[in-house]
Formats: sequence, structure tokens, C-alpha cells
Amino acid sequence: MTVKLPLEPGSKIGILGGGQLGRMLALAAARLGFDVVVLEREADSPAGRTAERLIVGDYQDETALAELAALTGLVTYEFENVPAKSVEWLAAHGVEVAPDSRALGVAQDRFEEKNFLNAHGAPTVAFAEANTAEEAQRAVARIGPPALMKTRREGYDGKGQRWVEHAHDAGAAFEELGRVPVIIEAAADFVRELSIIAARDRDGAMAVYPLAENHHENGILRRSVAPARASEALNEQAERIAARILAGLSYVGVMGIELFEMADGRLLVNEFAPRVHNTGHWTQDGCEVDQFEQHIRAVAGWPLGPTRAIAQVEMLNLLGDEVEVWAKYAAEPESRIHLYGKRGAKPGRKMGHINRVKPL
Ligand code: AMP
Repeated sequence: MTVKLPLEPGSKIGILGGGQLGRMLALAAARLGFDVVVLEREADSPAGRTAERLIVGDYQDETALAELAALTGLVTYEFENVPAKSVEWLAAHGVEVAPDSRALGVAQDRFEEKNFLNAHGAPTVAFAEANTAEEAQRAVARIGPPALMKTRREGYDGKGQRWVEHAHDAGAAFEELGRVPVIIEAAADFVRELSIIAARDRDGAMAVYPLAENHHENGILRRSVAPARASEALNEQAERIAARILAGLSYVGVMGIELFEMADGRLLVNEFAPRVHNTGHWTQDGCEVDQFEQHIRAVAGWPLGPTRAIAQVEMLNLLGDEVEVWAKYAAEPESRIHLYGKRGAKPGRKMGHINRVKPL
């Protein structure tokens, strides 16, 4: 199906992936008058239950992709490990996919991603690739321990990472990560972790949200505070970095960019996600137009909405059985509750979040 942009209300939008990000995108799309078709492997999923249509299938299953393409001319994704080939297949069959397969491909490989960032004036820590235990050992020796070894592909929430304290430990870490291609990163001695959520529309116009300050535990986001306390110069530095990345990819949609704030005031990019981002959940209750609606607006060829903060927000992720205390949050007048409807609260699993709102 070929699509006419801007997309008319009443049209269908396809989403690859059925997780909580897809669920919140579907809710925002519904507000703008769209219907959502979700393609997801599991028959029961957070986004599947908010979609008008659910196609249960593998992302690589061409029958499932063809069914999606027959139903909608516009597709986005909520999960960056969707195979870039599936996005290419859809695009080759006349579907408008945003963000495109290039953005997805670059973000899926940490080595490609860092090369792209540095080539586009977005600084990162020093890094090197390694494909064997020997290369890993040489890379750690060159970069200087302690160094962080990460699988090039498929890591998330701190998975697929090992700290290496001495070059002679690099081989063991490489084995533990499964002898797959890795990237070795210098340790960032940051004072804070920040992120910027940025959007670019189909005409190249950009909008950024105020910075969020993020706190992780065991590699998983625990809490964000936003707008972060930051000087004008720091905000401008983050905006410059975001503009370079989005323009460099001719990006369409919302992107989450994770930053390290160094003691000297410089910002380094840790990574970017070509999708709405957990550190942008605060915008649901803290900004004029939230990141989910903004993403739908951008991919649908609508104008971007205003990103100004209207409240100070502390966002708390509800991990595992923490979701069971929902009634406590429901009784707090300052708390806005967002639950994902997941069955089974495994430890560390993101089950929902709370936005605690205060006047600015
Ligand atoms: P990532 O999966 O790359 O987002 O990393 C998860 C978390 O690990 C980050 O949010 C940081 O807290 C930490 N981290 C990642 N890379 C580095 C680095 N090069 N130096 C220090 N800490 C890091």
C-alpha cells in the first residue's frame, strides 16, 4: 500500500514490536485518530492489547510482513533489535518505514554507531573493536584498563557487558560474552548521566526536549529527573550534538540520546536509540506534547509539537514485583501511573513507571 503524507486521521500505522513502548505509541496514535497494527512474536503483549489489529509472527516472516504491508503504508518500530533486513523488505515493498533502515543499522552495531558519531562531530569515549581474544587483550592494553567490553550487537539494559580490570583478563571476558565481535570502551569518568530526546520531521525541522538526569542500577534505568539542572551552555551543547546526529541520518521520528557529563563540562555520547526512550517517559506528564505523540506526528508527516516543560518530573521505573505497590502510588496526588499490562513480574523486568509531578 502506498501512503499519502501527511497521514490522514483514520489511517492505520504499523508498529514492529509489542512491548511497552509500542503500547504507549499506540495510545498516542489513537489520540490522533489513527489505528495501530502491531507485528509481534508473542500472542499476548503490552502493545498487542492496545492495537486494533495484531499480527503474531516473527519479524523475519515474509508472510507476516506482507500482511502488515497490505494493511498499512506506514510502519515504525519500538525495538531496536528488529532486523534491519525486515525494514528493508517493507521499504522494498512500497511501505514507508520511519526511522529508516540506515538509522536502525547504525544503532544496532556499537562499533558502527561510535564511528558514525565521531564522523559527525558527536564525541564519545575512546574505543576499539575486537574479534578475537588476542585482539581484545591488545585493545584493552592500548585503551588502558579498566575498560568496558560490550558485544557489538544485541546488548540492552547492561546485558552483554563486562568490565575488564587488567589486559590479561580480556580473554576471559571475551569468552564469557560468547566469543562474538565486541567493542572495548575506555571508562567514562562521568559526573552525571544525562539524556536528550530529540525529534526530526519529514521536512528536516527539529525539536528537542529539556535534558533528563538519569540514574541506573545494574545497567537498568531506575529513575530520571527532568528538566535536569543544567546551564544554558550545557543545554546548547546537547542540542548541537542531537542536531548533528539527526541531520547526519536524515532521521524521521523521535530518538533517545544517552550522554555522559564529564567533569570539564564536556558531553560524550554513550549511545542513541532510534526510537522513543525510557528516559523520555517523563515528557508524558511534564511536557506540552510527549515523546510518543511527537514520534507519531513525525512519522505521519505532521508538524512537530511543542516540547516545552510544564512540570518538574521524577520518573521511577517499576521493576519486577515493585509494580505490586501500585495502590500506594495511586493514593499519591503527585503521582501519575503508567502500567504496561505485562503478565509475570520477573526480577528487573520493566512493569510500569510513575511520574511524580511538581510545579516548575
Ligand atoms: P549501555 O548499555 O551502553 O547504555 O550502558 C549501560 C550503562 O553502563 C550506562 O548507562 C552507564 O551507566 C554504564 N556505561 C556504559 N558505557 C560506559 C563507559 N564507557 N564508561 C563508564 N560507564 C559506562
